[in-house]
Order: sequence, then C-alpha cells, then structure tokens
Amino acid sequence: MHEMGICQGILTAATDAAEREGAARINSIDVTIGELTQVVEDALQFAFEVLRQDTIAADATLTVTFLEPRSRCTECDIEFAHGRFDVHCPECGSYVCDLVQGKELAIESIDID
Ligand SMILES: [Zn+2]
Repeated sequence: MHEMGICQGILTAATDAAEREGAARINSIDVTIGELTQVVEDALQFAFEVLRQDTIAADATLTVTFLEPRSRCTECDIEFAHGRFDVHCPECGSYVCDLVQGKELAIESIDID
C-alpha cells in the first residue's frame, strides 16, 4: 500500500514545519493530491490514523483535495481534463500533449497551536 509511505512523508514534513514554529500540536493538515498519483483516500486516511499516533499530530484531521488530470495540446494549445489513460486532445485528436496537472502531492496548509 503506497499510501503508507506517502502519508509518512506528509506527516514528517508537517511535524517538522510545526516544530520549527514551536507548535505544541497540529489541529489539521490540508493536502492536494493529483489523481495520477493513484492515491486512494480511504487508504491514506487509514495510514494517517495509524502513523499520527505518538506525534504532535495525534488529534489532527487530514483533509485531501484531489486534482483531476489536465493536459495541454501542443498543436492547438488548449488545456483539457482527461482520465488516467485517455490523453488526447478533444479538439484535434492529437496525442502529443503535455501534462499540466495530476501528479501533485503537496501540503497546502497546516493548522497548529
Ligand atoms: Zn489539439
């Protein structure tokens, strides 16, 4: 389950940042995740419940915002949303497209006390 490793990364980054701020506890962590990371929210939340124990995030909530995959056609320069495997321009049908969104894995904000 790769969510365990991803969650550990999120938690380590969040607790490091919070401790640098002198925080006693973390109330919530907001993350943005691209759908192409194939992260499953239930699995991520489960990992978070396990890994947050005995950290300053022990009572924290994890809020996940998923971003749909988007690409830009190199021919007609339009940007479009698409599925995980179906990347072609809806305008000209070209498969030569640059991914602009979908692989994000970022902490947007952390609420601390
Ligand atoms: Zn096109």
